[in-house]
Amino acid sequence: MRLETLAVHAGAEADAETGAVAPPIHLSTTFRHGPAAERIAGYEYQREGNPTQDRLEAALAALEGGAAALAYASGMAAIAGLLETLPSGTRVLLPDDCYSGLRHLAAEFLPQRGVQAQFVDMADTAAVEAACAQPLALLWMETPSNPLMKVCDIAALARIAQAHGAIAVCDNTFATPVLQQPLALGADVVMHSTTKYIGGHSDVLGGALVFARRDAVFEAAMHRRHITGAVLSPFSAWLLLRGFRSLAARMAMHCANARRLAEFFDAHPAVAAVNWPGLASHQGHVLASTQMRDYGAMLSIRLRGGREAALAAASRLRLFTNATSLGGCESLVEHRASVEGASPVSPQDLLRLSVGLEHADDLIADWAQALDA
Ligand code: PLP
Repeated sequence: MRLETLAVHAGAEADAETGAVAPPIHLSTTFRHGPAAERIAGYEYQREGNPTQDRLEAALAALEGGAAALAYASGMAAIAGLLETLPSGTRVLLPDDCYSGLRHLAAEFLPQRGVQAQFVDMADTAAVEAACAQPLALLWMETPSNPLMKVCDIAALARIAQAHGAIAVCDNTFATPVLQQPLALGADVVMHSTTKYIGGHSDVLGGALVFARRDAVFEAAMHRRHITGAVLSPFSAWLLLRGFRSLAARMAMHCANARRLAEFFDAHPAVAAVNWPGLASHQGHVLASTQMRDYGAMLSIRLRGGREAALAAASRLRLFTNATSLGGCESLVEHRASVEGASPVSPQDLLRLSVGLEHADDLIADWAQALDA
């Protein structure tokens, strides 16, 4: 079955009891059992598992081509849920431009647990190979990356990690399974902030891990989620399931709009650089063309006038809302350096865009007035 079909049908079986085509939301925290705690319908307590979450996890696994999935209360909960399965004394490799939440987690919490994090440019496969010389438990990829949209070679990095006995994880939030399937390229685990494109409407927080195999890593993460309680609410699971139904259609329009804007920026004299892997001039274009179906709708631009010009343009935009996050129907813009806290890694002249589903002509007109003012 093709992805577009799976996105509509995975986890969408009509309700057995009523025939309802849209799935019911099971809000019950507890499930009736026999006098000696015998399970009747397979469920016991919501934190351990529930029918709405099961549907979402079935959809996540189907779309990513995985054997099993775990839904979490947020993307960060999913990241923490996986990293906390690592024993102390182990070492992980993280992208030098990884999502800022992961960087904070690595700086503040991993050392407390005796897990050492090393940051490396994942787009430089030779540098990754060199960094694997010491024992390694896990290698983290995020591609395209945030906010420079750097592209790393999922298949090559997964091979390197596995050759060193480490698990290869890929944050597939920006691409979604519609554009990129890391498990098929050899990764062991895919991570999502489902808050973004999978939810698709900026109204639900969630995260997910999808596993290539129902192995010990999956079992450890599932047990930890049950005990530590970073679970998703059934209502959020239901919203995410609903997001899945239109994911492929939304991604097609997101990508088409992003292309129009990237081409506009590329030709605009106020723009010094456009970071979007769909442009032939982008560092990762050739690689992205081999491992992605399209190039996504996250892009960043650097303005010739530096920080002042970036902030001035952001303040003049009318359709693009100044807000963090991404993947919703509405277009967003963000001065990343301003939201990254005390020691930002993003350049001061950079604006990151989440290109939405408005008409591309209107989006371009918004930027034209903001840049030409
Ligand atoms: N990974 C990426 C690429 C993200 O952009 C984000 C959030 O912005 C996260 C992970 C964390 O997800 P959440 O905000 O759902 O905890």
